[in-house]
Amino acid sequence: MSKQYDVVVIGAGPGGYVAAIRCAQLGLKTACIDKWIGVDNRPALGGTCLNVGCIPSKALLESSAHYEDINHTFGEHGITASGVALDLAQMMARKDKVVSDLTQGIAGLFKANGVEWHQGHGKLLPKQQVAVTAHDGKQSVLEATHVILAPGSSSVEIAAAPLAEGVIVDSSGALAFDKVPQRLGVIGAGVIGLELGSVWRRLGSEVVLLEAQGSFLGAADEQIAKEALRQFKYQGLDIRLGARVTSCEMGETGVAVQYQDAEGEYTETVDKLIVAVGRRPNTEGLAADEVGLLLDEWGFIHVNEQCRTNQPSVYAIGDAVRGPMLAHKGSEEGVMVAEVIAGQKAEINYDTIPSVIYTHPEIAWAGVTEQALKAAGRDYNVGTFPFAASGRARAAGDSSGMVKVIADAVTDRVLGIHIIGAHCSELIAQAVIAMEMGASSEDLAMTVFAHPTLSESIHEAALAVDGRAIHIPNRKKRQ
Ligand code: FAD
Ligand code: NAD
Repeated sequence: MSKQYDVVVIGAGPGGYVAAIRCAQLGLKTACIDKWIGVDNRPALGGTCLNVGCIPSKALLESSAHYEDINHTFGEHGITASGVALDLAQMMARKDKVVSDLTQGIAGLFKANGVEWHQGHGKLLPKQQVAVTAHDGKQSVLEATHVILAPGSSSVEIAAAPLAEGVIVDSSGALAFDKVPQRLGVIGAGVIGLELGSVWRRLGSEVVLLEAQGSFLGAADEQIAKEALRQFKYQGLDIRLGARVTSCEMGETGVAVQYQDAEGEYTETVDKLIVAVGRRPNTEGLAADEVGLLLDEWGFIHVNEQCRTNQPSVYAIGDAVRGPMLAHKGSEEGVMVAEVIAGQKAEINYDTIPSVIYTHPEIAWAGVTEQALKAAGRDYNVGTFPFAASGRARAAGDSSGMVKVIADAVTDRVLGIHIIGAHCSELIAQAVIAMEMGASSEDLAMTVFAHPTLSESIHEAALAVDGRAIHIPNRKKRQ
């Protein structure tokens, strides 16, 4: 006989596992099916984010930043070290331990909340039934009142650069090199290309990024993207825009990458090549044809604002549905759907979801960009403040970048905050809270910030909207 649940969740990434825990908190009998096999060859919860995404990439970004600091930055502080050596195996082992501690933590949370973990592949059948194929091939069927689909996404592959074990790799492969490549190619100068390119550059690789678009970081504010490009080039990331890879040839010592731009055709030989050109939803084989689950032309599951699919009592969340492919976006959708299922009123403000790129300097933003407002013909005011004028940033010896506050010209409501600079992954939360509360730039200007902090730069940028910043000359003068 099949088992009966209030909710069955397919996928235990940050979308699915959060949805499952919230459902259980709300008193719903919940099962969560996931097929992931972790670094230690055992089933693991947490999906892409914990196993091969957010967490391992941040572990390596942190470790590689320490290595770069000790070699290049600490001297300025009067700290020198000799005999500094890189133990890459230890760095990787530490990253793997961070991952396994956290994935086991989710297993503990499932247990504590009474979520049943089914290890294997889940497939949606008609009438909210879900077929489970366990890793040993054993089949079973779960019956549910509601189903939440959270299958996540996988790296896009391109015909011009087919993956080749350990040499042409996706982001997962790039998190597990056993040697620092001398010359590293990256196709795609997006979020993954920049983060992982930074990791390996800090550890000693010469990094060349081949980006098909003629512009850099199209989703970011143009002024911030321009500053980011300048900083990354200064650090030694060789970013080539408008570069279209046409083919790759594997040789004995590496890969010859052929590409073209507006000026001509080139070959670049690298030891390793990372393909980081975006991600696609994992919706193949997710639902039986008879279910009639509606997908769009790219394979994303069609959902409305409350993440309801075209099938009654079937919801979908996370990377497999529209919107940014970000862990926190999937998790919030998981909470919303659980609460909707429990009969509560729940919604998400998609306009204030923050984006962060964890390079150095970091890049973070929430809300609209200046170029989008220009294109929409909307009147706005802008205030910027450079970290070079921040006492705290100068004391830290880390003062590149700026804060930019954009406010509506008529209502003064904050429409967007864009930051490039150290620790702005943390600062951006202030922008999100301000926008969630409907703050004006005047509200931020009237708020008292602790001194000396990086946060003061948000205060100063808000003051600058109206020509009142204290620690920079203002272009706009006001009494
Ligand atoms: P996933 O995390 O992909 O999880 C889906 C799970 O479902 C997987 O475990 C999968 O095995 C399982 N599954 C799929 N189909 C089935 C099925 N039919 N049956 C059973 N199980 C199934 N985002 C950020 O916000 N911040 C970051 O810093 C960040 N860094 C990243 C770095 C890298 C290198 C990568 C690749 C991604 C990063 N992301 C980051 C993106 C983030 O990882 C994703 O947005 C997030 O994991 C999506 O969550 P999800 O729950 O939708 O799917
Ligand atoms: P992305 O969309 O950020 O960047 C892909 C880049 O590749 C783009 O600039 C695109 O123009 C370029 N491109 C596409 N096809 C190309 C080709 N054939 N040749 C050269 N360039 C090409 O995607 P990503 O970096 O692969 O990351 C995937 C997703 O994972 C993103 O949506 C991102 O949100 C998420 N992610 C988030 C974080 C974070 O939040 N810090 C970190 C890593 C990944």
